[in-house]
Amino acid sequence: MYSLRRTKIIATLGPATESEEMLVKITRAGVDIVRLNMAHAKHSWTRDIIRRIRRASQTANREVGIMMDIKGPEIRTGDLITPIELKPGEIFDFTVKPGATYEQCAEVRSVNVNYLNLVNDIGIGNTVLVDNGLIRLEVLSKDQAHIRCRVLTPGELKSRRHINLPGIKVSLPSFTEKDRDDTFVGIEEGIDFVALSFVREATDIVKLRSFLAEHQSRARIIAKIEDQTAIRNLDSIIRATDVLMVARGDLGIEVPFQELPVIQRRAVATCIEHGRPVIIATHMLESMITQPMPTRAEITDVANAVYERSDCLMLSGETTIGRYPLECVSVLDTVSRRIERELRNELPEPTTFIKERMKLLLSAVVMANEIPNSIILALTRYGTTAAGLAAHRPAHSPIVAVTDSINTLRQLKIIRSVEPYLVTLFSDPEKSTARAIESLIRQGRFQRGDKIIAVIDMPNNQSRCIGSIQLHTVE
Ligand code: PEP
Repeated sequence: MYSLRRTKIIATLGPATESEEMLVKITRAGVDIVRLNMAHAKHSWTRDIIRRIRRASQTANREVGIMMDIKGPEIRTGDLITPIELKPGEIFDFTVKPGATYEQCAEVRSVNVNYLNLVNDIGIGNTVLVDNGLIRLEVLSKDQAHIRCRVLTPGELKSRRHINLPGIKVSLPSFTEKDRDDTFVGIEEGIDFVALSFVREATDIVKLRSFLAEHQSRARIIAKIEDQTAIRNLDSIIRATDVLMVARGDLGIEVPFQELPVIQRRAVATCIEHGRPVIIATHMLESMITQPMPTRAEITDVANAVYERSDCLMLSGETTIGRYPLECVSVLDTVSRRIERELRNELPEPTTFIKERMKLLLSAVVMANEIPNSIILALTRYGTTAAGLAAHRPAHSPIVAVTDSINTLRQLKIIRSVEPYLVTLFSDPEKSTARAIESLIRQGRFQRGDKIIAVIDMPNNQSRCIGSIQLHTVE
């Protein structure tokens, strides 16, 4: 019997998965979206891989969406000839103007930082975290060229390490020159999603949206929340974005770690409330980078994200450099399906959408919840109807979304419970519905006796569309 996995899987591409052969394999294994991490990507690689992904989809006979994850305002240390072993209590300088030295203490060891204005953003007593939070320092003093710190947690400092500044509002632009160049390449190659790193407020999303509109791109925006400012502005960010990513890697460094599950739960619930898809990212199966089996804690973490009814689970290192990328996809697939079976008989919290359109879609979902084994059918040009239905989290019915746009089909891959199909639609919705049902019977998706709850827009005699719900039994 046909069985849908509601929770979608995102795989980040890297050396472990970038060959055409592996792309076909991960697509067949059930990956819905592939992610290109632009922090590590050259433009020639980006153009090549996008074309390879599209070819692999053809071979696997299964479309995937492509997400370009742009780096955003990242602060990094500079190059070092040899790593520096930082000792506990050591006095250490971050230098924003290379060449300038503190007169009174020239023997202090130091590293350059790529952000000139850091001295103005940071204050005495603030914490500086380096290399994913492994090294911790406290700010003692500063001048226009240096930030002098004391090492609290020692470690080996290597070249070009990522810096986190918990609780500090950094005045770097949200959409950098590099982001602009990367996004432009993505638009030219037809990416489906742009993930904006370190989103701090809704206006960051507005700026990216106008850049996309200026270049006639319909790519959807994914806002990555990764610091305390984003958490403070969570509601307005969710309202402004198309999709949210809980980027637990940086977030887990920027906030006290015990806050992470609380934030995740709140972010998922708020996204569902506003009808925005939500991705849970990072360290889902970290141990599987080197081991063929997940830890018990990882299984429980994945299960928790599915219990929360998030839309997508994302793999990073597991599929970029990991030894078991296919096994990771299979673990996410198996655990998701198992937990989704548990949720079949559990009705989610009722949603409180204000718009009338959402109330109509809610009626369709309530009806589907009442009819065992029913299937919701959405005729959707830009994906809005399908996304609206998914926001009501149907208990057991899949949402079969029929569209005549390949771009919409790929973008629907990110939404929980939605199974998109490409079918030619007509201007007459009645004709389109009949065509969609006929096509889905032919493809073996609908069978005799299936109860189909179709959500369609019927034109009235003034040729305006009226949303309607129809119940069909497949003959
Ligand atoms: C994260 O921090 O969890 C994340 C997904 O972002 P990146 O991998 O770009 O650091």
